[in-house]
Amino acid sequence: MIPGPVEFDPEVLRALGTKTASHVAPEFISIFGRALKKVREVCLAPSAQPFVVAGSGTLAMELAVANLVEPGERALVVNTGYFSDRMALLLERYGAEVVQEKCAPGEVPDVTAVERVLASGRFKVMTVTHVDTSTGVLAPVEALVKAAGRHGVLSVVDGVCATAGETFHQEAWGADVYLTASQKAIGVPPGLALLSVSPKALDAWRSRKTPVRSLYADFSEWLPIMEAYEAGRAAYFATPPVNLVYALEVSLGQILREGMEARFARHRRMARAFRAGWKALGLKMLPVTESVAANTLSALYYPEGVDVAMLGRAREQGVVLAGGLHPQLKTRYFRVGHMNVVGPGDVLATVGAVERALSAAGHRAEPGAAVAAAQTELLSAR
Ligand code: PMP
Repeated sequence: MIPGPVEFDPEVLRALGTKTASHVAPEFISIFGRALKKVREVCLAPSAQPFVVAGSGTLAMELAVANLVEPGERALVVNTGYFSDRMALLLERYGAEVVQEKCAPGEVPDVTAVERVLASGRFKVMTVTHVDTSTGVLAPVEALVKAAGRHGVLSVVDGVCATAGETFHQEAWGADVYLTASQKAIGVPPGLALLSVSPKALDAWRSRKTPVRSLYADFSEWLPIMEAYEAGRAAYFATPPVNLVYALEVSLGQILREGMEARFARHRRMARAFRAGWKALGLKMLPVTESVAANTLSALYYPEGVDVAMLGRAREQGVVLAGGLHPQLKTRYFRVGHMNVVGPGDVLATVGAVERALSAAGHRAEPGAAVAAAQTELLSAR
């Protein structure tokens, strides 16, 4: 139950174990082509250009930055934690002049304040982390992306801990880049960087004055490849991760069969049940209010007298949890992922295991009350 890699569906894992075809074999070409079309559907962006490249989420971030930003251009980072810091680092590495709108851990920057900064001028891009995996905070991406659009600024949304778990309508909201990785709510083992890029962002890339500094991250290399596979032709720049693409095509198929709205709603329902359990255990969440709490993971302070040793006790109880990640608070909290195939059974088993682990660490709560609270929430069909 960590926030990625998550549990994967057996059908997806079986696809991964299929005999590896040549990357130019007809059967692979049609699978890759279908996977690309499905990325577009999952991002709800019918006009966008999908990219699927071997690498992790950090590569997806790098692809966005390397292609959209030229040295000396201004970038605004809406910073909610560890992965926004990484985005700022990347932007600086590519020569951008970075301005950050920061907030305390667990909070989200005020949209009006961000809009004021956007209005102050000349930004090429604004970046925002949809769900910050270090704090469990869900950013108000719809409002932020629309604000960027009003000021003619390209919006880049890091959806690594959100895509296919949190509500997102790329095209309707006008987000220019939605980037993600395979190992979380996309439901495929680690190894794929995915991006969905708006026509406006592609135009901005086409009108660059300087070449993209990284060869592996250059859209000029990847765009013809993506277009070829989608059109049913093979093309080569760098060998695609054939088996991961098989797995991706299966997982995206499952996601679309569930339906995007139904999938978002299931993640919300499971998150509400988890939160009811945490509350009954007397645990305090990092997100300052429930309205900014992610539906894909929970970040929770250890209660008085409990520390990281609790993670070992949870493992003894059969559930793997993650430690803290935010540099300022690292040792003071833990994280529980709830993405992809997560269902009621996972909620009840996890809340029960956390209760036993806390009890072994000396934290007292009414026995079974947390499981009952989670179950009550699951039973209320909202
Ligand atoms: N952004 C976010 C929001 C993430 O959660 C992560 C990974 N946890 C990344 C970026 C980086 O992804 P990766 O570890 O796959 O490089």
